[in-house]
Amino acid sequence: MKNKGFETRCVHGAYKAESGQPQNLPIVQSTTYRYYNAQDVAALFDLDSATPFYARLGSPTVDAFEQKMALLECGSAGMATSSGQAANLIAVLNIAEAGDHILSGTNIYGGTYNLFDVTLRKLGIDVEFFDQDISEEEIIALARPNTKAIFGETLGNPALSVLDIEKFAKAAHTIGVPLIVDNTLATPALCRPIEFGADIVTHSTTKFADGHGTSVGGCVVESGKFDWTVKDADGNLKFPSMAAPDESYHGLNFYEKFGEMAFCVRLKTVLIRDLGCTMSPMNAYLTHQGLQTLDVRMERHVKNAKAVAEFLANHPKVDWIIYPGLPGDKYYDLAQKYMPKGASAVMSFGVKGGRAAGEKLLENLELASVVVHVGDIHTSVLHPASTTHRQLSEEAQKAAGIDPGLIRLSVGLETVDDIIADFDQALAKI
Ligand code: PLP
Repeated sequence: MKNKGFETRCVHGAYKAESGQPQNLPIVQSTTYRYYNAQDVAALFDLDSATPFYARLGSPTVDAFEQKMALLECGSAGMATSSGQAANLIAVLNIAEAGDHILSGTNIYGGTYNLFDVTLRKLGIDVEFFDQDISEEEIIALARPNTKAIFGETLGNPALSVLDIEKFAKAAHTIGVPLIVDNTLATPALCRPIEFGADIVTHSTTKFADGHGTSVGGCVVESGKFDWTVKDADGNLKFPSMAAPDESYHGLNFYEKFGEMAFCVRLKTVLIRDLGCTMSPMNAYLTHQGLQTLDVRMERHVKNAKAVAEFLANHPKVDWIIYPGLPGDKYYDLAQKYMPKGASAVMSFGVKGGRAAGEKLLENLELASVVVHVGDIHTSVLHPASTTHRQLSEEAQKAAGIDPGLIRLSVGLETVDDIIADFDQALAKI
């Protein structure tokens, strides 16, 4: 299946019905799995066997979903999580612990910023934020001996900055750490960060992957290419969690035993085991269902978004617009390079009259819904400064690219003329 086209992988990826079996991925709604003897169960606990035994640690529906995500991202393995937040949290915790240091772009989703800036700090992991437009040399200069990863979003939410993945991958590899890229807004239909050198890809599958607004979920995919035996300047293993014996598994060395799947196997057997942030079979089924049409949905999302962005850009009451798919946008060239099929369907804009006029615009919209969500078939709008990013200081909001009047718009799959007409009437009333 790996060598098939993207659309074929969307439809057929991972689950394959044998003769007489259901054509659609079955929802296996069982917490436990029966075995005939204790030895077979012991083999599961020693990680010598990988069949399901307890649904916190995997089930057939969830396994099929994560394999599909790995296939779509061109990775070697995937690990589903209960949410996108959990995906980013465990991707970091898999390789960093108290006393370590992480580098992250500032232009990231507010929830992830807060997770890094507040919660990870409380756990003793120091996160240093950088302006992602800095040069490769400047990134390398930020590295410390205890730096364990570089993090960024393909398309920053809602700043809509485009990450120069190749630049960050080169810098990360010079430092000897993995590049973790959150690919939520681009989706593998538009950009596959692993093809540009990223080592770990994370997702809030709640967004375009599901696409229909039914299921909160997340996923981590690994490239299988990172060498976890890298050493620090003193000759010590930089990633002992991956490449040194793990006492909770009788001295098992994850990288030695599982090679290109080691990151995800450890995520499941240590972090999902201990933290319990498992995806449910129902959510895996629904998100898998969404992934089957990811390619065609993204194509139409992009087409509608381009038309709406052009309309807004030319409207006299619109003060500014950021959409990396528009020629002239600061990130247009990077978007062309990393997302040649289109820069997704999320944009931000401000209207003349600032925050008050923006709030009025939201009240006037009839077709577009005010929701805390993007990447849905429904056109969605939000005012981040008073909602998703309200926990951030004004300074941190600015660093994340949030203007007080910014309206985030996620263009859906309605008839594009109807979406434009809705904004036209709402703008006429402000
Ligand atoms: N990453 C990005 C880029 C997001 O936009 C979001 C949510 O909006 C998350 C992660 C967190 O995902 P979830 O809401 O599924 O926990």
